[in-house]
Amino acid sequence: MLKAVRGTRDLLPPDTDLWNRVEAKVRDVMERYNFHEIRTPIFEDTQLFSRSVGEETDIVSKEMFTWEDRSRAIPAVPVLEVASGTRGRFSGQSLTLRPENTAGVVRAYIEHRLGDKGTLQKLYYIGPQFRRERPQKGRYRQFYQIGAEIIGPPSAGSESPIHDAEILEMLATLLDEVGLRDWQLQLNSVGGADDRARYNQALREALKPLLHQMCADCQRRAETNPLRVLDCKVPKDQPIIEKLPKVSEYLGEASREHFAAVGAMLDTVGIPYTINERMVRGLDYYTRTTFEFTHGGLGAQSAVLGGGRYDGLSESLEGPKAPGIGFAIGEDRLILALQSQGETIVEKLRAYIAPLGSGMNPHALKLARELRREGVSVDIGDEVFRLKRSFELAEKAGARFIVIVGENEVAAGQFAVKNLATAEQVQVQRAELAAYLKDSNPQPRKS
Ligand code: AMP
Repeated sequence: MLKAVRGTRDLLPPDTDLWNRVEAKVRDVMERYNFHEIRTPIFEDTQLFSRSVGEETDIVSKEMFTWEDRSRAIPAVPVLEVASGTRGRFSGQSLTLRPENTAGVVRAYIEHRLGDKGTLQKLYYIGPQFRRERPQKGRYRQFYQIGAEIIGPPSAGSESPIHDAEILEMLATLLDEVGLRDWQLQLNSVGGADDRARYNQALREALKPLLHQMCADCQRRAETNPLRVLDCKVPKDQPIIEKLPKVSEYLGEASREHFAAVGAMLDTVGIPYTINERMVRGLDYYTRTTFEFTHGGLGAQSAVLGGGRYDGLSESLEGPKAPGIGFAIGEDRLILALQSQGETIVEKLRAYIAPLGSGMNPHALKLARELRREGVSVDIGDEVFRLKRSFELAEKAGARFIVIVGENEVAAGQFAVKNLATAEQVQVQRAELAAYLKDSNPQPRKS
């Protein structure tokens, strides 16, 4: 039997009702904060990720789904070359399923010159991402992220700490409004490019005498990208990493002030946080503010979301200076955390329409069409079912009411409606039917 590929999964009802409720809430919150949706392709040129996320990160070095493009018809080859006869050769372009979406958003920002507008771009996305990780609870190879970015030219205020605070405040509101309880915000600053260079140098030196005790990845990273040593999960390396120099000791004046301003604004709006100096996030593009929201109901994979500032990302992709800040919520984990609190959604079907007797199907379908257009959720049976069978099916469908459509009902223009929870049955005029079915606590009526 063919099965879903390891690390991928089907999302089925009723879980998808909870997913949809979360996504509807996200869209509602995003609108109130003036974010607008961006949809970027699911695959991109591999270099986009190696140059932004970073060669030495776990994502790029181990986890990407990458392949060589073999398409002939729409080559990445410029039109001129196609015209001059290279058509038919494989483009050979290296392509990758997106492992995250910030790089794609920044690529789109550069490609469409969104910075030329001179304003901040506030963009959000919801969609699948792909990483070849070892699957476990809360960790999948296809997973979903809900993310947002504030990016723009410095003249539009894109570097201001108010946007770090705005993003964090929005996340607190979003998590509160979807009903997540007891989340925790962990905050850090990894400094600007200069601070990072000084800190990397300090790490390199501190690591030199210790490296022989550490894992092979750390030994390599100590040379190429020492900050990534802090991402190491190998247990025997942890006591060594704990004693390494702290990033806060290497922040320059500007970064320290920026970070203090973010903290002060969070204090003013009343959002609790803890500072976690070890949290440098597993992606190279971060500068200054980095953060994670965690939840106790998730076990080992406790991060519901992560994000931070990326002031140099656009320039590293040959774009204009465009500081930015953003986050990505792991939607799978957010749903797991909500379910760990007992959150479920029971979307009740309002009415099951049971045609009774031959020739009643057209009448049932017509009534269903009209009620659905009047905003009632309706399902229909079939005239071949006996009444008892229709009742069973209505119960199984989870309907609140069953509406009988027989010859007499159609002739009289009024229908027998039975509440399946209370067993109460009434006759309702066609004109009142939609309102009656929509009313969650209909009053008993005498026919
Ligand atoms: P990152 O893009 O690595 O900063 O991750 C942001 C968030 O995405 C994390 O906090 C997780 O909630 C979620 N996430 C990352 N990787 C996975 C995965 N393999 N499966 C499920 N969720 C993930």
